[in-house]
Amino acid sequence: MGMLAAQMLAAQSASSKSNGQGAERIKSYAPATGELLGEAPVMGPEEVRAAVARARRGQQAWGALSVAERCRRVLRFRDAIVDRQDELIDLLSRETGKPLIEALMHEVTPSATVATYFAKHGPEILAPREVPLDLLKHRKAVLHYPPRGVVGCITPWNYPFYMPFRDIFLALIAGNAVVLKPSEVTPLIALRAKAIWDESGMPVDLLQVVTGYGATGAALIDAGVDFVIFTGGVSTGRRVAAACGERLIPCVMELGGKAPLIVCRDADVELAARGAVFGGFTNAGQVCIGVERVYAHKDVVESLTRRMTELTKALRVGDPAKGDVDVGAIIFPKQIDIAEAHIQDAVSKGAKILAGGARIPGVGQFFAPTLLGGCDHSMTVMTEEIFGPVVPIMEVDSDEEAVRFANQSHLGLNAYVFTKDRTYGEHLAQRIEAGSVLVNDVVTNGGMPEVPFGGIKQSGFGRVLGHESLRDMCNVRHVNVERFSMGSDNPLWFPYSAKALTIARKATTLFFGGGGLLKKLSNLL
Ligand code: NAD
Repeated sequence: MGMLAAQMLAAQSASSKSNGQGAERIKSYAPATGELLGEAPVMGPEEVRAAVARARRGQQAWGALSVAERCRRVLRFRDAIVDRQDELIDLLSRETGKPLIEALMHEVTPSATVATYFAKHGPEILAPREVPLDLLKHRKAVLHYPPRGVVGCITPWNYPFYMPFRDIFLALIAGNAVVLKPSEVTPLIALRAKAIWDESGMPVDLLQVVTGYGATGAALIDAGVDFVIFTGGVSTGRRVAAACGERLIPCVMELGGKAPLIVCRDADVELAARGAVFGGFTNAGQVCIGVERVYAHKDVVESLTRRMTELTKALRVGDPAKGDVDVGAIIFPKQIDIAEAHIQDAVSKGAKILAGGARIPGVGQFFAPTLLGGCDHSMTVMTEEIFGPVVPIMEVDSDEEAVRFANQSHLGLNAYVFTKDRTYGEHLAQRIEAGSVLVNDVVTNGGMPEVPFGGIKQSGFGRVLGHESLRDMCNVRHVNVERFSMGSDNPLWFPYSAKALTIARKATTLFFGGGGLLKKLSNLL
C-alpha cells in the first residue's frame, strides 16, 4: 500500500475513534492531493432516530400536496443545483478526484435530467389507475399510489451526488421524505447538497442527511424507515437486505457489476475499441456498469487489442485541478490494492500487460489505466468485480462462446454488444443475463430516466428509474367499489347452503369448462 493510501486509511480509522472532544468525526481527504477537505460527524443511533423523526414530520405536509405541486417544488431544487453547478462540480471533483466534466455530465446533469423527466411525467405515472376486472364486472377496481413515508437511501462513494439524487427525486415526487446516508468516503458533497436544499427554501425536515460509517447506515434501517434503497457492494448488500428482511422493510438492492463487452465478428472495431476504453476507464473504472471484461471474436481480437492499447496509452491521468485529464484519482484507497491483486493474479496465469499495470508514484491516489491481453476465466480479473481502471481482454472462437462466458458470472447488471448488424445485436442481447444490455454503446443507460435500471443475480433486485420505480416508491392502495348493487342476499356469504354450492359448481363450469361460454359472454359486458 502506498504512503498516501496508508495515511488515508489510518486517518479514516483514527477518525472512527473519539477526537478527544467527545464527538466522532469523519475526515474527508482529496484523493488527488491528500489534502484534508473537511470533516463530517459520525452519527449514532439517537441522532439517526431524531433525523428519521424530523423527516416523518416533514413528510406529513409534503405527502398531502398534489403530485403536480410536489413536482413544481422539486423543480425549484433542480434549478438551485443547476444554478450552483460550478460550486457542486468543484467540490465533487476535489472530493472524488474526478475530472470536472465527469462531475458535471455524470453527476449534476443526470440528476437534473431525472428531476425534469419525473416532474414532467410524475402526475401521469402516479395518477389513480382503473384496472378492468375480468369476472366481477359489477365492481370497479382503482389503484392509488400513496407515499410509503420515509425512504432511507444508503449510497456509495463513486457517484456521491448522482447516486443519491437519482433516487431522492423519485422518492420526493412520490410524496416521501428521505433520510440519506452517504458514503463515509465522500460525505462532504452530501452535506453541501443539503445546505443548498435548505437555502433554496425546500422544507428543511423533508430531506435529512446522516453521516457516518456502516453502523450509521445500520442505525438508519433500525430507525423505522418505510423503504430502503441501497446502492453499494454485494457483501454489504447482503447485510442490508438481511436487516431489512428482519424488519420486513421493502428494499431495492443496487449492487455490484461485472459488465461484459462482446465484440462480435462483424463489429466496427474502432467503435468497439473506443467504447471499451471509455466504458472501462471513465470515473477511473469505479463504475458499477463499467466495462469489466471484453470478449473479442478471434477474427477481430488483434485489431481491437492494438487499437485499445493505443487509446489506453493516450489517456491523460492526473489531478483534474492541474489541467485537462481523462482519468482522475482512485477515490477509495482500498481499490488500488484490489486492482493490484487482480493484475498479479492474471499475470501469474499468463495474461500480458498491454498498458499501465501499476499505481502512479507521487502525490495522490492514481492508477495507470491498465489493459490486459490473453485473459481467461481462471483469472479473477474476468470473474470478480474490479471497480478500478483495469480492463481484461479474452479471445473467443465465436459470438456464441462470448455469450456463454458473459453469462458465467454471479453478477448481472449491465452488458454490451458491438456488432454492425443491429437486429443480430438485439437478438444476442436477449440471451445475455443482465438487467440492461446496450448494443453499440456503453454506460449511457445509467442516466436514462425513462427505463428501469438494476441488476439480476447478485447484482441485486428491484429497479431504480423507469415508471415502475416511481410507483414502487409508493404503497399501492387498491380501492374497490360496486358499480351496481347485487343486493344483500349474496348466495356466497353466510349461511352456506347446498343451493349455494350448486350455484358455485354451475358457475365454475360455465366460466371455465367447455371453453368458458359464460366468460366469453361476460367479456361482452
Ligand atoms: P459499500 O457497500 O462498502 O458501502 C455502501 C454504503 O453502505 C456506504 O454508505 C456504507 O457506509 C453503507 N454501509 C456499510 N455497511 C452497512 C450496514 N451494515 N448497514 C447499512 N449500511 C451500511 O459500497 P462502496 O464501496 O461505497 O461502493 C462500491 C460498490 O457499490 C461497488 O460494488 C459497486 O459496484 C456498487 N455500486 C452499485 C451501483 C448500482 O447502481 N448497482 C452504483 C454504484 C456503485
